[in-house]
Amino acid sequence: MDLSYIINELGEERGNYFNAVAPPIMQTSNFRVEKVDELKKLFEDEYGGYLYSRGQNPTVEILRKKLAALDQAEDCLVFNSGMAAIFAAVLASTRSGDHIISVENPYGWVKRIFDNTLSRFGVETTYIDGTVLENFEKARRPNTRFIYLESPNSWTYALQDIAGVAGFSKKHGITTLMDNTYCGPLYQQPIPLGIDLCMQTATKYIGGHSDTLGGILTGSKDRIKKIFSNEYLAVGSGIQPFNAWLLIRGLRTLESRMSRITASTWRVLDYLRENKRVERLLFPLDPGFPQYELARNQMKNACGLISFYVKAESRQQIVSFCEGLKHIMMAVSWGGHESLILPRCAVLENQQFERGNPDHRMLRLYVGLEDPDYLIRDLEQSFGRSF
Ligand SMILES: *Cc1c(COP(=O)(O)O)cnc(C)c1O
Repeated sequence: MDLSYIINELGEERGNYFNAVAPPIMQTSNFRVEKVDELKKLFEDEYGGYLYSRGQNPTVEILRKKLAALDQAEDCLVFNSGMAAIFAAVLASTRSGDHIISVENPYGWVKRIFDNTLSRFGVETTYIDGTVLENFEKARRPNTRFIYLESPNSWTYALQDIAGVAGFSKKHGITTLMDNTYCGPLYQQPIPLGIDLCMQTATKYIGGHSDTLGGILTGSKDRIKKIFSNEYLAVGSGIQPFNAWLLIRGLRTLESRMSRITASTWRVLDYLRENKRVERLLFPLDPGFPQYELARNQMKNACGLISFYVKAESRQQIVSFCEGLKHIMMAVSWGGHESLILPRCAVLENQQFERGNPDHRMLRLYVGLEDPDYLIRDLEQSFGRSF
């Protein structure tokens, strides 16, 4: 399917709404039913029609069709946040007595689900270095039912061999879930590589304007329908029609935003690589990246996030660099129009800073839609004052 078709036409039945180019926001909680037998059918299977917006909603449905196609998946659910999507998928895939294998350092709140919530229901999690395929086999137990992946992750960009892990999991009947937020569907498609459930937060590139949260889960019709009929409806964590509409709008420009960000990222990378205050940088498609070959093989491209280690003598120096930026904002999240900086040492006191610990000297830059020269000038003026 052509990307242009998916983004501009798929799922949109303009004849049903006055041929309006932009779809309406179906801001309704419930839907009228004319026949008792229709009601009966919907009570038996809410997946099959419009009854109540905690389940199906026409605006959300347009978005679901597009996102499923982008991932080359059969079906999709959209949640109110990325974490809601992960929570529903994990809950649907595990039961008491199960064992989970997760990559070390998954997105922080995911660890919270495994360690604080699931542990109360007798589900145990083993964290492994997912860069080594054999580690999955070493950690496997007879009751391993679920594998949690994130490739690349959003700080060190550690990758997993996706097809390798998928093959291993299929052999042992283990369900795989992958957080694909860093790449998104344009730069990496885990489903055709054999992953069962692909998750992505729409808060980042899909929304693209830092004005809404959303979470995406794609997979086979079977799995998605089961999650819809249980966790999605029971927890009530589906996306609201207005937020779905914002995400449809975000999708219209996804490809052009990501191309722009990709080009700018390389400009900023070149600047940082030549910068004498920078000791080392991390970017999956930088030839010096430890898993460069794997990244080139399984990802179509990379953009946006760059991590780098500065030659700081003190925490204060990093504080002064971050606070001295005039245009690049200090904030969590990424994927929006605005460039952002995040220092790892934010969690430390000044006296806890260890010059010899590279983690303490690590920063993450997100390159947004601004002119790259404008960003480089901002980085340079702040480096100049603090280093
Ligand atoms: C932001 C993020 C999430 C969580 O998404 P929310 O929409 O904030 O709930 C999960 N994984 C990664 C990699 C993220 O960057």
